[in-house]
Amino acid sequence: MRPALLHGLFAPVSRLMGVGPQLAQAIARLIPPPEGQDAPLVRDLLFLLPSGLIDRRATFPLRETPDGITATFVVRVEGHHPPPPRSRKPYKVVCGNDTGTLTLVFFHVTGDYLLRSLPVGEQRVVSGRVEHFDMRTQMTHPDIIAPLSQLAAVQRIEPVYPLTAGITNRQLAAFIQRGLSEVPPLAEWIDAETLARHGWRDFKQTLTQAHAPQGEADLQPQSPVRMRLAYDEALSVQLHLALLRARRQEKPGRSLRSAGALRDAVRERLPFSLTDGQRQALSQIDADMASGRRMARILQGDVGSGKTLVALLAALTVAEEGAQAAILAPTELIAQQHYDTFTRWCNGLKLNIVLLTGAVRGAARAERLEALAGGQAQIAIGTHALLQEHVAFADLALIVVDEQQRFGVAQRMAMNAKGDAPHLLQMTATPIPRTLSMTLYGDMDITLITDKPPGRRPITTRTVPAGRAEDLTDRLAQALARGEKAYWICPLIEDGDVLAATDVAAAEARFSTFRALFGEQVALVHGRMKAPARHEALRQFASGGARLLVATTVVEVGVDVPDATIIIIEQAERFGLSQLHQLRGRVGRADKASACVLLYSDNAVETARARLSAVRDTEDGFAIAEADLAIRGSGELLGTRQSGLPRFRFIDLALHQKLIAEARADAIAMLKQDPALASPRGQALKMLLALYGYTHDF
Ligand code: ADP
Ligand code: MG
Repeated sequence: MRPALLHGLFAPVSRLMGVGPQLAQAIARLIPPPEGQDAPLVRDLLFLLPSGLIDRRATFPLRETPDGITATFVVRVEGHHPPPPRSRKPYKVVCGNDTGTLTLVFFHVTGDYLLRSLPVGEQRVVSGRVEHFDMRTQMTHPDIIAPLSQLAAVQRIEPVYPLTAGITNRQLAAFIQRGLSEVPPLAEWIDAETLARHGWRDFKQTLTQAHAPQGEADLQPQSPVRMRLAYDEALSVQLHLALLRARRQEKPGRSLRSAGALRDAVRERLPFSLTDGQRQALSQIDADMASGRRMARILQGDVGSGKTLVALLAALTVAEEGAQAAILAPTELIAQQHYDTFTRWCNGLKLNIVLLTGAVRGAARAERLEALAGGQAQIAIGTHALLQEHVAFADLALIVVDEQQRFGVAQRMAMNAKGDAPHLLQMTATPIPRTLSMTLYGDMDITLITDKPPGRRPITTRTVPAGRAEDLTDRLAQALARGEKAYWICPLIEDGDVLAATDVAAAEARFSTFRALFGEQVALVHGRMKAPARHEALRQFASGGARLLVATTVVEVGVDVPDATIIIIEQAERFGLSQLHQLRGRVGRADKASACVLLYSDNAVETARARLSAVRDTEDGFAIAEADLAIRGSGELLGTRQSGLPRFRFIDLALHQKLIAEARADAIAMLKQDPALASPRGQALKMLLALYGYTHDF
């Protein structure tokens, strides 16, 4: 239940005086209304902060007003000069005071509103941008024309909001002022020490000030006013996540531990031993699964750190106990590859592993579904196809989500529902800055694999202008002749997961060029190809039948061809830095020296080229992610809309890192001290949660 105190803020904007249906619609274009409603809430209107300001305090002697400046004048209206009928000339109103003459200029005038608002002989306040034209001082379409009594109200600093058609800045500002009067007095949820240390004022004063900036500094994310609002937001998110985690830990989970016979058998077959990072990750996972609580763990490890093996070994514990594990992969390619790896590593063991993707149809599909529902299969590997309603498990005890950022919350929940409180292990190769993981995964335990399998050689990365691509082709020919394998990544034309047709066209064009040069040893994969053709191309590349793989970004995540040693990325400046790092991770997977070439267009701007050096100069995925976050922001970094990040209003993930960490520590300490949020500060924090729309039972 939402506290009654907040009703005014959660009312639709149409409840504010003066906001009719059309204005409400215009506001809805600026601010998304809550799901299922047409009008945004008063709260959301108040959370729309000004993006600029106009200073109307200045006034000048008319003859000496600098050109292009916004200023306010008191003038007397001297005469109207309408254009001749059917002329395109403007309507002019000449005004003046004892410092000079000001001509007001209007285009497309209809009706008599100018005569009414600017009656001859009367004094008016006008405010707007001044221009000098033909020796005259003039103002085209003044922003404000008001009676003299309004002078003080006009001559001030006005906030400027992001706008859309159908509503003016002044209307929006007025509605926001009306909305501010709906903000009730709320008990302080930030502790006194924190408030004093940052020099913050209370919530209502802060919000009011945020809408009355006094200078450019007040608009910055680092201003005290915006910092307090960001802190409130961060505190609400962190408290929400900490509560989720506490609630989940109250419920029992299945306690799973095995003698480890299957696991030992697999480890014996491996041609290598586990890295320290893999070992640590496994011991944390084992402890989680044995604890009697549900595991919710995120496993972060750079590309090539060997997460797949960790997932398999975790699944074996489950299988040995007679329960089932499901591994969700983002693409068919990766699902197939995991399946191949798993079956190879488990060859000869008494274990039934099934693959389920969209491409599996007919009798094979029916048979596999039956094995899962009947419990004859212990491990399922699949794509989104696993999420479908008719896919049932006999006893699903562990869900592994590979490249978890590719899946949405709803998809994870659908998978969850197929078992009885199954353990959850999410994996990601996208290194992300710490504050971002606090926010994204704040309700989970986090494991990092920071090492890589031994014997890897560093990858030499170079940035090369496209103009020199020809030398590159020569060197590529030599490398292929030596028996090396290379990826050629075609430009990314469109952002996001949707592949543009132009993407495909570019890849096909490259493919035919290279076919002409290098013949049969060139293969092609792109997102529009049917799964069997794609798998065939990849299989050829993996087996050595093909040595040059021309690809769009379908190879970005997870593809594992260990003996590939060269990757060339065209128009690298179009990719995000983390994405380039991921792509680069396709090579350097074995003990051979590897090379990555970032080709940039000759017309790439200097800053774009400079960015590439961040990837060239380090192989530390976290450092690259930090740079990427600062450059592109979190949405781009995570690369998908369904990343699970809340839509932040005040938080800037790159700029407010310290603030988020502080809010997280605050939230955790508070819940430790007062788990039911019953103290006075606890009560105030419940109000904060309600203000941000988080509901929890206490
Ligand atoms: P990612 O963490 O990016 O998913 P993978 O699981 O695909 O990485 O592993 C990358 C490569 O490293 C694979 O070829 C895998 O067989 C190999 N690998 C995994 N663990 C080890 C290890 N401990 N020692 C040597 N190679 C390993
Ligand atoms: Mg992987």
